[in-house]
Amino acid sequence: MINVAIDGPAGAGKSTIARKAAHDLGYIYVDTGAMFRAMALYMVRNGIDPEDSEAVAKRADRAEIDITYIDGVQCVMLDGENVNGLIRTDEISDAASRVAVVPEVRKKMLSLQREIARKHDVIMDGRDIGSAVLPDADLKIYLTASVDVRADRRYRENIEKGMQADLEDIKREIRERDERDMTRAEAPLVKVEDAVEVDSSDMTVAEVVDKIESLIKSI
Ligand code: C5P
Repeated sequence: MINVAIDGPAGAGKSTIARKAAHDLGYIYVDTGAMFRAMALYMVRNGIDPEDSEAVAKRADRAEIDITYIDGVQCVMLDGENVNGLIRTDEISDAASRVAVVPEVRKKMLSLQREIARKHDVIMDGRDIGSAVLPDADLKIYLTASVDVRADRRYRENIEKGMQADLEDIKREIRERDERDMTRAEAPLVKVEDAVEVDSSDMTVAEVVDKIESLIKSI
């Protein structure tokens, strides 16, 4: 099986790029952030404060999280329910990065993710894929962009979706999430030595997709 790992900070465009490249090349795209988001949703639904690491650790094992593919689209299942439509809110983004610091949560996600990568050719995106989940991946990419560019993209996306958006709020939220993801004790976001860094600040989506696809083709 061929395993490609794409890591990087929030809003760098990982999911857009990985989804497109996986589609073009016939790989399965695995969005690991969605799994942490489903775990966050589980905690919120059950009245558990995502910041209460002890309570989160105790309940993590009870959440049944799985991913399936319907018409090629990844669906995140929480206790048998497709929660794709419920996990893209600001509240869940924030809660996801809080539950993600809890070792019991990470352990559960890691084994699920490895299991998928063992069975399929995958492009898997996240924060710790090259460093912890798939340390022997055939290709590791660190996809990044400046905070300003990432915030601006998120702002436009929200406006396009008809959602309320405030650029300064988005920038602050991205900075906070980067900080939490990069400084946590367990599997922090790092650029590993053997990763190829791609800075998408001044690139179009098509250019980044081209670049990533050519890297994959040269494996
Ligand atoms: O990628 P996405 O923004 O959907 O991820 C949501 C949160 O889940 C991240 O901010 C991060 O805290 C956590 N995450 C993680 N490890 C991954 C993927 C996501 O800790 N492999």
